[in-house]
Amino acid sequence: MATLVYTHSDFFGHMTPPGHPEQVARLGAVERGLAGLAVERREAPLAEESEVLRCHPAGYLARVKAEVPVEGWGQLDGDTYLAPRSLVAALRGVGGCAAAVDAVLRGEAKNAFVAGRPPGHHAETAKAMGFCLFGNVAIAAKRALDRHGLARVAIVDFDVHHGNGTQDLLWDEARCLFASTHQMPLYPGSGAESERGAHGQIVNVPLRAGSGSAVMRAAYEARVFPALEAFGPELILISAGFDAHADDPLAGLEWEADDYAWLTGRLCDIADAHAGGRIVSTLEGGYDLQALEACVAAHVGVLEERGR
Ligand SMILES: [Zn+2]
Repeated sequence: MATLVYTHSDFFGHMTPPGHPEQVARLGAVERGLAGLAVERREAPLAEESEVLRCHPAGYLARVKAEVPVEGWGQLDGDTYLAPRSLVAALRGVGGCAAAVDAVLRGEAKNAFVAGRPPGHHAETAKAMGFCLFGNVAIAAKRALDRHGLARVAIVDFDVHHGNGTQDLLWDEARCLFASTHQMPLYPGSGAESERGAHGQIVNVPLRAGSGSAVMRAAYEARVFPALEAFGPELILISAGFDAHADDPLAGLEWEADDYAWLTGRLCDIADAHAGGRIVSTLEGGYDLQALEACVAAHVGVLEERGR
């Protein structure tokens, strides 16, 4: 079977102001990273609004809709902008994750990657922030649990920023283990080890600026992998941000593309042992275009190799 890659031309319609790091050009870098990989491409469908409502209240969705401009930009927080086509893009992000979960759980592929934007892991229950509108990965987890009847889903977030939104949306969801590594101190400021979720099902692993491969690998071996093994997920979701790369302009961890290949391979090992190999990964951050290209090639390359 081939790794599924969900994309859509509408993801190019989420324009951001000049100089904004979460820019349309990121998609070109992602495409260059995917070039040459034997993946099966599918169009990310538009999510029904009910899909968004798995995690966000109707009033929040209405507020996002109301901020969509006819031209120019609307703004939901200091760095989260809306262009005329942004809502469509965001709904395809939610829809792409939902379709990827459905396809992987139906056995059409072992794993999938959703190459969409805007990202999602900073969006809280009723608050857009950090370039994110809807909690794509948390919504996907809820779909796997509530619609497909899984008992245990794990989310691993290796974006350099803490997935505060995912944590907020799943704080009291005992059926979902959320594990995040992130630089601290750094935006958004949350993600201390003491933040454990209502059922102790959240694992936050802050890392110091300047730390690189060895520290990262040791942290995963000591904290994240044992938690995953103990939890025994039936599906692993990944918030795949590539901004912990050494060249990223927004943060100061020193990871290399090889680290993403290693980490992806280890997550595939755990998925093989517990989840029939099932992984759905979705793009979050990653703002140096060359690093993003190399990291996507490394990450999806391993998914493709392991998904056959
Ligand atoms: Zn990030």
